[in-house]
Amino acid sequence: MRIAIYPGSFDPITNGHMDILRRASKAFDEVILLLAVNPSKKGNFSISERLEIMKKAVEEFDNVKVDFTSGLTVAYAKEHHAAFVIRGLRAVTDFEFEFQLAAANRYVDPNIDMVFFMAGKETSFISSSMVNELAKNGADVSGLVPASAWEAYLAKRK
Ligand code: ADP
Repeated sequence: MRIAIYPGSFDPITNGHMDILRRASKAFDEVILLLAVNPSKKGNFSISERLEIMKKAVEEFDNVKVDFTSGLTVAYAKEHHAAFVIRGLRAVTDFEFEFQLAAANRYVDPNIDMVFFMAGKETSFISSSMVNELAKNGADVSGLVPASAWEAYLAKRK
């Protein structure tokens, strides 16, 4: 079994993340979409809101699970017998951070490797923070996020 972890803050999960996830789900036997955040860091959506949005969004896949960790992704990966960590790359600006993160992860556990998927051209401009900014100002972001996230924005507006 080739198991991969796809970690992130997913605040909320966007169509950019979904594109990476769709491609990763074809490359691996099982993918764990992992909400990996420090619970004391405040985001737009709470941890439980993000998890609920993520769970509904992955219903279309039969080999994707959703989980949460407040610890290191590599520690989680080892515990769950996953040898790969997936990340997405948008512009060159992502590269520097991801390069450093990959080196740090390999320092902690050299048996776990990072696998990168290039952002799709339709979704490469999407980030959770940009979607949050648009939504906060009343924009219809239903074309940028999965239905479960759009419903969560609508529920917050009420
Ligand atoms: P983090 O805080 O760990 O960067 P994010 O939820 O912002 O968490 O992103 C998780 C991963 O998904 C990162 O590797 C990021 O580069 C990637 N990613 C985010 N948005 C996109 C997108 N639109 N297309 C491709 N990859 C993306």
